[in-house]
Amino acid sequence: MKKSFEKSENFYQESLFTFSSYKSYCAIDTINIEIGEVKKIFKVNSLTSEPIKFAFQPKDGLVRVSLKNGSVEESNILSSLLSIKDNNIENYRKFFEKNGFFYPLKGDKYVEIDDNSLLLIVGRMKATVELMSQISEVQRKNYDRILTLTLALLLKPQIEIKIGDHVYKTSKHEKLSNELLIASNIADNSFNFKTDENYVFTIKDSIYGYSKMHLDVYRNLKTDELILDNFWRKVLHSYVNHEDSDKDVRLMIEVLYHVYFNIGNFSSCSFEKINFSENPKWDNFDEPLKHALLEVAKIVVAEEINSSLTGIFPEYDSSIMEPRWRVDSLISALYFSIFYMKPNIELTRICANPRCGNYFTISRTSSKKKYCSPQCANRAIQNRYRANKKSAEK
Ligand SMILES: [Zn+2]
Repeated sequence: MKKSFEKSENFYQESLFTFSSYKSYCAIDTINIEIGEVKKIFKVNSLTSEPIKFAFQPKDGLVRVSLKNGSVEESNILSSLLSIKDNNIENYRKFFEKNGFFYPLKGDKYVEIDDNSLLLIVGRMKATVELMSQISEVQRKNYDRILTLTLALLLKPQIEIKIGDHVYKTSKHEKLSNELLIASNIADNSFNFKTDENYVFTIKDSIYGYSKMHLDVYRNLKTDELILDNFWRKVLHSYVNHEDSDKDVRLMIEVLYHVYFNIGNFSSCSFEKINFSENPKWDNFDEPLKHALLEVAKIVVAEEINSSLTGIFPEYDSSIMEPRWRVDSLISALYFSIFYMKPNIELTRICANPRCGNYFTISRTSSKKKYCSPQCANRAIQNRYRANKKSAEK
């Protein structure tokens, strides 16, 4: 959809930031690892003969502007990217060809990224936007989603992409990772614990006031590598021995501890679901824990955005005598547009039609709207009608 601006220079004047880049050439190699296992490698190269320009305005989002006549070639680039289905690799290729790569490319060598890393980078962006939206839902917050997205963002491995001699990295969530890094230096106080007559000791806890643990259970968990892996041993160690750590860090540790030890331990967590090892005890997902989770989710969103807002410079535009921001990579421009989202005013939702997956924006008060378009709403009604008919026929 092309929208032409009569006064194109006004568009730049009103934009909060701009970003200049190049279209790219993108090829995809398929590597057969073993029968049924295929890996796709994106190979991207900048087309320096085809410059492109982006601008951001709160009401239009990030748009790509034609350098020829100033018209808007594509609006809301963030939504276009987030609406690509994970399995539609070809559409990612098209996205890079039109908008260039996430990171600035140097020289004429291909930069390579495998499909899993690419999907993780986009997955983090999707999860951040959805989490922001879930946190701000007025009427009914979906705490299961908030839990899944928060854990996935916190626990997923960091992706590194090397371009020339620069390494670009996704968020590491430094507060938590630094705490776990120093965890081994925090003394284990278990020999000094004051226990009651049943060898139960008390831990200060900002969610519940305090919690109790049996000394033998604690020592078993700490020493038996078959029960707890290294990561969760560190979480446990920090929870028991570092009650006075930084407030945000303490809350993260407490939430992780209570989710893992009270709701249920899990082997892994994707953006879709937590893979619990046994039936989770949802009764333990109570109001105090939900409240604390919400605080942690806010910290996680802030860390995701802050760590991706690199290479942003203030710039004084002498032609219009106004300050503006200049951004040096598409990934920063995308996160900058997430940064400017105002979840108090509007929400970005995923269309409730499972076959659609589009992201759309609604005002926070019209929170009933579940579908991106009348077509999707109709399809949902038809599907429900057909499903009812089928079950009636049985
Ligand atoms: Zn839809």
